[in-house]
Amino acid sequence: MSEDLKPCPFCKADGEAKPNIGYWNAMCPNNDCPVKPDAHGETRELAIKAWNTRAIQPDTSKTIKKLVDALKAYQELAPFLRSKGIHCSLPEEFKL
Ligand SMILES: [Zn+2]
Repeated sequence: MSEDLKPCPFCKADGEAKPNIGYWNAMCPNNDCPVKPDAHGETRELAIKAWNTRAIQPDTSKTIKKLVDALKAYQELAPFLRSKGIHCSLPEEFKL
């Protein structure tokens, strides 16, 4: 099954996959793109998979750390709140 290419993360142009000699190239076709990223793979599917893989951005990493810290603080505070009659619980998937 063929996977669709995500848009370019820098200019939002539709990604494009083209065969090259011995490999496939998934790329941003926009000549005005500030980055013109590309990704390679032995097959079209592998090139598209590589293209569609996005690294976590530094801002996202900071947000995740803040959320984890908030969950830890909440878990430390929960027994105190319960002792004061304030009901609080986290869904299982949020427990650290
Ligand atoms: Zn682009």
